[in-house]
Amino acid sequence: MTRTDTLAQALNIDAVVEGKARLSFADALRLYHEAPLHDLGRWANAVAERIHGTEVRTYVIDRNINYTNVCTARCTFCAFKRRGDEDDAYTLDRETLHRKIAELVAIGGTQILLQGGMNPDLPIEFYEEMLRAMKADFPQVHIHGFSPPEITELVAIAEIDGFPTTAPRRSGELPQDVWEAKCEAIIKRLMAAGLDSLPGGGGEIFADHVRRRTGQGKASAEHWLTVMRLCHKLGLHTSATMMFGHIEGIADRIDHMQRLRDAQDQAINHNWPARYVSFISWPFQRENTPLGRLPEYDVESDEPFAGDVLAEKVYAGEVDGMAKAACDAAVPEAGKIVRRASANEYLRMQAISRLFLDNFHSIGSSWVTMGPKIGQMGLYFGASDMGSVMMEENVVSAAGTTYCLNEEVLCHLIRDAGYTPAQRDNRYNVIKLHNTNTAPDRKVTDWSQHRAKKLHIESTPCDSNEPDNNTPITLTINR
Ligand code: SF4
Repeated sequence: MTRTDTLAQALNIDAVVEGKARLSFADALRLYHEAPLHDLGRWANAVAERIHGTEVRTYVIDRNINYTNVCTARCTFCAFKRRGDEDDAYTLDRETLHRKIAELVAIGGTQILLQGGMNPDLPIEFYEEMLRAMKADFPQVHIHGFSPPEITELVAIAEIDGFPTTAPRRSGELPQDVWEAKCEAIIKRLMAAGLDSLPGGGGEIFADHVRRRTGQGKASAEHWLTVMRLCHKLGLHTSATMMFGHIEGIADRIDHMQRLRDAQDQAINHNWPARYVSFISWPFQRENTPLGRLPEYDVESDEPFAGDVLAEKVYAGEVDGMAKAACDAAVPEAGKIVRRASANEYLRMQAISRLFLDNFHSIGSSWVTMGPKIGQMGLYFGASDMGSVMMEENVVSAAGTTYCLNEEVLCHLIRDAGYTPAQRDNRYNVIKLHNTNTAPDRKVTDWSQHRAKKLHIESTPCDSNEPDNNTPITLTINR
């Protein structure tokens, strides 16, 4: 019996692939450390094929619109936020917002990803008016907007009859029942104004011993999960995310997914009208960020990574992860050194996410941070969706690498991987199946005009109709 056979038998992998058994926390850790990458991909792909079939892989045409970059949080991985008094701090006006949506509609887009910082100067009426105006002019466009940190800031500062306010970032001072009631009122108002679903931004890593060093002032894990739970109860579908490859231990990544799987179980068991629809993970991008200035762990080192050492102590119950002093005393180096994720590592985690998150419909591949070819490879490691044809991205691009692909290239990548590309909507319904000669990629006669482009750091809209003045990344089109 091979090593893989022994592992597969011990973890009951055949049953996991068939959806008849679950990986435990310990199983997932063991998979991470012992499974060959190829086998992980093979198993994760089998799960994706069971759920999504063997023929079609999807993408969506949407546009990231970051309506404000003013934010009270101090995330150490963020190069996007501004305090509000800088020259380049902004809140977009209605004309700019609507021009961006009109450009999206012109290329066949169906959705906007509308997110901003935790801006304490914007009352809830600002959000309601923004949503109503968008819906009035673009009723067909799905608004996927406002991740849990923005909702959490509204719980702090929004003036709503019958509810108290707090200083920005201080919503945690409210009693839990008041916090939840106010949050529910906010979500209801945003839904009434036109919000269609809530993206899972701001998830990063939930574990408190990591989060207090990476997401200072933003929604705690408990608040993040509570916002999503209330969304599911109220009928607003959501997505979930994980940003890894920084100070966290491997066990922290599994813990993150465990909390999401448990929350999804709760939504399913209660038969709530909505739930998490998708999960996407990506590695931390370090440029221009405080976290990125930390020294980097040498993966060839004989010394264990401090983040792993602390995580093991926390999950073994030896250290209270909520107690900063105890964590600092137990592993002083934890949080002071980063371990970046390679492409190999990214594919490994994505495959494990597909195997572990057995109650999630879709796993997305993150070509935005990993590049087109690794994004394409993700389709063999459990991903069933290539995410978005992205016209604009501001947050990750401010921290370094992002890419911008047009529809022709994205369709080609999916077809080149052996699948038929299909444009989907937010709920993963197929809108257009590209199985004829009129498919976007099949109409292309000169691929030199369709090279992927690097997003400019100020995120000049990367419209496929615009001349390519940026340096093309290396992308081989196999026709
Ligand atoms: S990641 Fe989001 S919440 Fe954190 S500082 Fe940046 S804009 Fe603010």
